[in-house]
Amino acid sequence: MWHDLKPIGRNADTGGYRRFAWTAADADCRTWFKAQAESRGLTYELDRNGNQWAWLGDPEAGDAVVTGSHLDSVPDGGAFDGPLGVVSSFAALDELRRRGVEFTKPLAITNFGDEEGARFGLACVGSRLAAGVLTRDAAHKLTDADGVTLPQAMERAGYDPDAIGADRERLDRIGAFIELHVEQGRALDLSGDAIGIASSIWPHGRWRFDFRGEANHAGTTRLVDRRDPMLSYAETVLAARREAQLAGAVATFGKISVEPNGVNAIPSLVRGWLDSRAADQESLDATVTGVEKAAREYAQAHGIDVSLTRESFTPIVEFDDALRDELARILGTQDSAADLKVPVLGTGAGHDAGILAQSIPTAMLFVRNPTGVSHSPAESAAEDDCLEGVRALADVLEGLACK
Ligand SMILES: [Zn+2]
Repeated sequence: MWHDLKPIGRNADTGGYRRFAWTAADADCRTWFKAQAESRGLTYELDRNGNQWAWLGDPEAGDAVVTGSHLDSVPDGGAFDGPLGVVSSFAALDELRRRGVEFTKPLAITNFGDEEGARFGLACVGSRLAAGVLTRDAAHKLTDADGVTLPQAMERAGYDPDAIGADRERLDRIGAFIELHVEQGRALDLSGDAIGIASSIWPHGRWRFDFRGEANHAGTTRLVDRRDPMLSYAETVLAARREAQLAGAVATFGKISVEPNGVNAIPSLVRGWLDSRAADQESLDATVTGVEKAAREYAQAHGIDVSLTRESFTPIVEFDDALRDELARILGTQDSAADLKVPVLGTGAGHDAGILAQSIPTAMLFVRNPTGVSHSPAESAAEDDCLEGVRALADVLEGLACK
């Protein structure tokens, strides 16, 4: 499976993946998924929101056990974020067939569309639509950097953008959703474990800061006469780091756009995007409020107008207690903390599982990432750990779907 996936959407210069929603690379990933489903004799379904499903057993029967992840990527993403969950799901099914287990519930493997939000700026579009968290009208307004709207992109890829929307009926068929994912941090590396179970997903959001000043000549405008928004932006970036450190949160300005974007021009507009996450809402609020306050102070000092727009926000997601305990039991974790075999950990990364947790019982398994690096071509996981993940997922699916 890895061999087939390896070249899809891979940039030759960076070695990173560019599998953006509704592009040719995305289509190739989807073709791969469908072929994997068909080669295993699974019933293939494409839902109204472009999410892919591969069913073993009757999809209509209800109380299904579903596992999967996503195949799209961030710009120059790694090989594992998303695909590890999908590949492991197919591999776990192969393992269960090898074990000769008897399924008492329907099982499905999924590929949720547009998880990373790399193209349209909103993460987990496929699962958000299905769960009714994102409405069709709001989705239709999403636009990429080239001015292509989501409906246009879907149409060009051969999908019906008017069909998208809440899919309660489909989600009601699901009794449990398990997403296996490469860890996007070093908690497992530090604890010396190959596998972990998720406790919660940190609350997180994206905020756009627009700093507006005055464009002018970089050579002839005296420093004292300038209204340079880049200065306020730069100071705000440093403030974000400081505020995050104070609150025990994380805060990142990872994207910026500048107008007029000329080497010899003082900018008229600097637009920076803040991504911030924390273990709890209070710490996140403290961080973002602190950054905003600093931005306003700096902007005032330089004669700059600043405005702040919250572009997306996801509150804390606590995964289903009963399902998490069931996973822990299956994987041999005891109740007493002293006897933990599989650690339970929180995460600062968003996932489809986090969106679906609002509608159905959901759990996540993490596979150790030796460097913690993610959203980069350097993202990695050892083969032994990946196989451990497949075994763990197979155990969980057997425990949930075969009893
Ligand atoms: Zn992911």
